[in-house]
Amino acid sequence: MRKAIKKTLGFITVMVMVLSLGVGSAAPMEAYAGTTTNTEESTKTKKDKAKIKYTYTVKKVTKKTTKTKEAKKKASSSYEKSSTKTKTTNQSYYSSSGYKHVEKEVKTVEKWKYTKGKKKYKYTKTVTTTTRTTKYSALQKEITVDEFAPKADSKLKAKFKAVGAKASIDTTISYDGLGGGLRVTLVNGNLVDTRTAYHEMGHFLGSTTNSDATTEWKNIFNSEKGKFRNATDSDYNAKYAKSNCYEYFACAYASYVLNNSKLKSNCPKTYNYIKAQLNKL
Ligand SMILES: [Zn+2]
Repeated sequence: MRKAIKKTLGFITVMVMVLSLGVGSAAPMEAYAGTTTNTEESTKTKKDKAKIKYTYTVKKVTKKTTKTKEAKKKASSSYEKSSTKTKTTNQSYYSSSGYKHVEKEVKTVEKWKYTKGKKKYKYTKTVTTTTRTTKYSALQKEITVDEFAPKADSKLKAKFKAVGAKASIDTTISYDGLGGGLRVTLVNGNLVDTRTAYHEMGHFLGSTTNSDATTEWKNIFNSEKGKFRNATDSDYNAKYAKSNCYEYFACAYASYVLNNSKLKSNCPKTYNYIKAQLNKL
């Protein structure tokens, strides 16, 4: 038994020596080879416009790989070249535990360094992944019309209060809407998106004055919906406005508040109709 153990130990010792020799002789050739990873993370608790607390986490992971590569020919001069690419993706998640928004940015920087008269060149690739996460815990909170739609027409805001309409922030749902009679629900993340707030106030104006489905309005919708593109600040809003006469009314009111002169010059009939409904209040 003892003899057998000794023999095995001897074999292992030899193997270790061979392996370390192999690493030792390869090292000078791969002088620059290697990958390093660095991770930084910070979390801050902030408050948004409606004084709702949320956490904002930034995680930055940098992975740097350096290699010595060999070209087919010797370099005729010493020079460096580089390339930078950035890709950003955004995702929103809604669940019973709250609202989460994740923005991921991947930045790839590649560098090549050539030395005159040498075949070997240095290649460096740095990939920086920055993940910005905003997290609101589950919350349902009432907010006043002055908080979520401060620029709305004063008579419209007064009407909103007079009929007992309520606005709330709900971080567990992914839509905004006018439901349950006169209840306006705004999603926390969209509270910063003022256009959504004024869009919902537009639905309130349309339903309160019973003016978003009249024959006159339908005619205006058909004649000016094509020109509405220039009266808003995004193609998405212009596209959504074409859905039907109700959405056109809500989108038109948002533009009346946020892009007033553009709406007046591009869609004059729409502008005058919205103005007339506000005067009726
Ligand atoms: Zn709508």
